[in-house]
Amino acid sequence: MTNASSADVLIIGGGLVGQTLALALAAHDIGSLVVERADPASHLAEGHDGRASAIASASARMLRALGLGDLLDREGCPIHRIEVAEGLNPEIIRFDAEAGPGESQAEPLGIMVENRALRRALLDRVQQTPLVRLVAPASIDRLDRGATGVAARLADGRTLSAAVAVAADGRRSTTREAAGIRLAHWSYPASAIVSMLAHARPHQGVALELFYPSGPFALLPMRDLADGRHRSALVWTVARGAAEAVVRLGPRGFAAEIEKRLGGRLGTVAAIAPAVAWPLGFHHAERYVAERLILVGDAAHGIHPIAGQGLNLGLRDAATLTEVLVEGARSGLDLGDPALGRRYERWRRADNSLTAFATDTLARFFGLPGAPVRALRRFGLALVERAPPAKRAFAAIARGTAGDLPPLLRGELA
Ligand SMILES: Cc1cc2nc3c(=O)[nH]c(=O)nc-3n(C[C@H](O)[C@H](O)[C@H](O)COP(=O)(O)OP(=O)(O)OC[C@H]3O[C@@H](n4cnc5c(N)ncnc54)[C@H](O)[C@@H]3O)c2cc1C
Repeated sequence: MTNASSADVLIIGGGLVGQTLALALAAHDIGSLVVERADPASHLAEGHDGRASAIASASARMLRALGLGDLLDREGCPIHRIEVAEGLNPEIIRFDAEAGPGESQAEPLGIMVENRALRRALLDRVQQTPLVRLVAPASIDRLDRGATGVAARLADGRTLSAAVAVAADGRRSTTREAAGIRLAHWSYPASAIVSMLAHARPHQGVALELFYPSGPFALLPMRDLADGRHRSALVWTVARGAAEAVVRLGPRGFAAEIEKRLGGRLGTVAAIAPAVAWPLGFHHAERYVAERLILVGDAAHGIHPIAGQGLNLGLRDAATLTEVLVEGARSGLDLGDPALGRRYERWRRADNSLTAFATDTLARFFGLPGAPVRALRRFGLALVERAPPAKRAFAAIARGTAGDLPPLLRGELA
C-alpha cells in the first residue's frame, strides 16, 4: 500500500541499496516511501560518483528479476576470469567462470557497471513503479518510532507514516545514530584512488588484482569506448599520506605509474576520468534492528573494497529483508513485528561478518611489509592455484552464491 503520506515501509536513503530494496518490495506488492536527502539529478551528474561496481552474479540475478537486465546487458561488462598475483610475480591464481551443475553456459563471476548507469536505471524504474514513492530532496527533522508504527516529520512540515522504517542512509547514517546503535569501526591508513582508463590492448574480461606493498591495485574490465579503445576501471590502494600526491600527478605521470604496475600488459594507458581518492575504513553496527527500525547496506556495514563486495552485501541485505517482510505480510504479521527484524538480522549477520572479516584479513595480510611475508604470500597463492576445491569456494564467494540465498538472489520472485 502507498499513498501520498503513508506506506507499508519508510526507506530513509535512496542510494543504490535503498532504491533496490524499494523495487524488490514493490515486486511483492509491498509499498514504500523513499526519503532521499539529495536531489536525484545531482546524483546523476558527471563527477558525482565516478566509481564502477562489480555486481556479483547473485546480485545480478536479483537486478534482472527486478527488470534491470537491460542495463546489465547494454552497459555491463562480464568478468570471465579474476587473476590475483603478488605484483608482477609469475605465480598467479586464476578464478574462471565455470558452468555449475546442470548449467550449459558459464555464468560470469560478476558484471562491471558504472555506478552512475546503475543509479539512472534504478531511478527510471522507481519513477515507473506506482508502489514506490520517492520523496526527494527531503530531510527528516524527526522520526518517531512507537508501538503502532513510525512517523517522520519532514523539514518542510509534511509527515510520512509506515509500519516500519529502514535505514539505508549510508555509512554516516544519522538514523542509526539517533537510534543509539553503536559501531565497531576503524580507519585503514590507506585511500583508494579511483579512475577510468583507456588502454591499447583488450582486457578479455579479466579482472586483475595485483598486490603491491602499498596495497592492492585492481583493474576491472569495462565495455569498450565508442571509439573502439578498450576500457578498465582502476581501484588503486595507496598509503593515505600519498593519495594527494597521486591525485595531483599530471596525466602522463599518472599513466606512467599505472603502466609500470601493469608491466605493459594492457599496452599504453590513458586516464579518461579524474583520479579521486576515497579514504578507506571499516564499520559494522553492533545490531541491525531497533524498535520498528532495520538497517541495510552501508548504514549497517562498510568494508575494504579489496574484493568489491560492499554494495553486494547491501544488495543481499535488500533481498533478504524483502523475503522476511514478504513472508511476514503473508502470515498476517505487522511489518514492524520484532520477530521479523530478528529473523533478518540472524540471516544477514553471518554473511556480513564473514565477508567483513575476510576482506579485512586480506587487506592486512597483503599490506604487511618484508621479504619473508612476501615469500609466504607467494607460497599461499601457488597453493590455492593448485587446489581446485579452494578455488571453487573462493569463486562462489565472489559470485555471492555461497550460503542460504533468498529467492531474489536466485533470480526468483517469491
Ligand atoms: C573506492 C570504492 C570502491 C568500491 N567498489 C565496490 C565494488 O566494486 N563492488 C561493491 O559491491 N561495492 C563497492 N564499494 C562499496 C559500495 O560503493 C557501497 O557499499 C555502496 O555504495 C553502499 O550503498 P548504500 O546505498 O548502502 O549507501 P550510499 O551509497 O551511501 O547511499 C546512501 C543514500 O542515503 C542518502 N542519505 C544520507 N543521509 C540521509 C538522510 N538523513 N535522509 C535521507 N537520505 C539520506 C544519501 O544521499 C545517499 O543517496 C566500493 C566502495 C569504495 C569506497
